[in-house]
Amino acid sequence: MVFDTIAAIATAPGGAIGIIRVSGQNAIQAVSQIFHPANGISFLNCPPRMLVYGTLSTRDGKILDQCMAVRFLGDKTYTGEDMAELQLHGSPAVLSETLSALFALGVRQANAGEFTRRAFLNGKLGLMEAEAVADLIAAQTLEAAGNAAGQLSGTIGSHMAEIRQKLVALSAHFLAVVDYPDEEIQPFQMQQMIQTLSETAEKVRQLYDSYETGRILREGLPCAILGRPNVGKSTLLNALAGFDRAIVTEIPGTTRDMIEEVVRIGALCLRLQDTAGLRDTNDPVEKIGVERARLAAKNAGLVLAVIDGSQPLTDADLDVLKQASESPRAVVVVNKCDKPTEVKIPEGFPYIVTISAKQRVGLDKLKTALLECAGLSGAVFDGGMITNARQAEALLRAADACKQAEEAAHIGFSPDAVLMDVETAIAALGELTGQNVREDIISDIFRRFCVGK
Ligand code: GDP
Ligand code: MG
Repeated sequence: MVFDTIAAIATAPGGAIGIIRVSGQNAIQAVSQIFHPANGISFLNCPPRMLVYGTLSTRDGKILDQCMAVRFLGDKTYTGEDMAELQLHGSPAVLSETLSALFALGVRQANAGEFTRRAFLNGKLGLMEAEAVADLIAAQTLEAAGNAAGQLSGTIGSHMAEIRQKLVALSAHFLAVVDYPDEEIQPFQMQQMIQTLSETAEKVRQLYDSYETGRILREGLPCAILGRPNVGKSTLLNALAGFDRAIVTEIPGTTRDMIEEVVRIGALCLRLQDTAGLRDTNDPVEKIGVERARLAAKNAGLVLAVIDGSQPLTDADLDVLKQASESPRAVVVVNKCDKPTEVKIPEGFPYIVTISAKQRVGLDKLKTALLECAGLSGAVFDGGMITNARQAEALLRAADACKQAEEAAHIGFSPDAVLMDVETAIAALGELTGQNVREDIISDIFRRFCVGK
């Protein structure tokens, strides 16, 4: 496809070097008008894929920078179009003046994700790979980056495209039978088809099941630290954060507002929320704090229920444990193990860890429990996990449709009934890989990218 020529600053402000990318049929031509290689050769004739040193100036001769530039020819570029890149000094003034000079030559500002969108439209990337690019840029942990990089290499995308192709072949067969009703499907063939449908449903479902963990890998987990006053919640936050983030005193009710801190534990990015201790109080400020704590617990993906192990359980502790049991994930932390133990945690909590937050004892055990509870312990981060809701929804639809087709074929429904379900599965897998996906969905996907990518 032929598009107009776009440009954007691809680097974050404040660096020593700033990169401007230009893509489209006039990209190289436009850059050649403002960039003049030091060796006297026109930029148009410089060898592709080779950095060239030269002078950047506006068309009326104002010198902007001494910099490097490179050109790429359409068949071997990210976007699938001719591209040029300028590596300038990172001054925001120089970068914006250079963009203006390009705009004066008919180039326009690229929208968010427009380079990657062109890569997709020009067949350089599948939709799943394009989404992996955004994941890779946003990755907060090495493991999340590893998974995104694996997806970018196209492993899942091509696997799903293969599965879809198998279904297309199957559908052709059913279609033939629908068109020529006298041609019955042989019982043996029917058995093979049911087998294919069942295997496909299983494979698609397996990939769908990776979403829960994949989402946590990509987004991290909001984690509320809950407990009655003085059990050591703030001390625990500080211990996990590695510095004194929250105020710790022996006075109950010290923490009133919620304090957030992002903590990385291996592959897991926890958004820890230290909260006011749960108790009945007449203090109006603390009261609001307690309400916020309850709300945080409701919205958390994981609750860390902190109990003071040196005292018998109180009603407030039971309230905390109840909140924890209502959360999708909970780890019970029995704190103050440096003192004699007085507590017995009731049944029903798979993750109970004894620690001393103050003495920094047992924190490794706690981190292991957190990773296990989040489903990230022992996982492989090579691109096998899907990480976004759009993909998950399409996979679930495809898996359900395959299962229904399998059942319909099994109980001997007419070929056209089976066909309908197979077609639904094909359409869902096509949406997943981008083979048939609506224009508005594509726009929505790329809008979430940053400008310059
Ligand atoms: P919060 O109200 O739950 O946030 O509790 P804090 O973190 O403010 O701690 C309350 C008191 O318990 C402070 O005096 C802490 O020093 C003390 N504390 C916290 N963790 C421990 C621990 O592991 N052992 C002991 N002995 N004291 C602790
Ligand atoms: Mg506190």
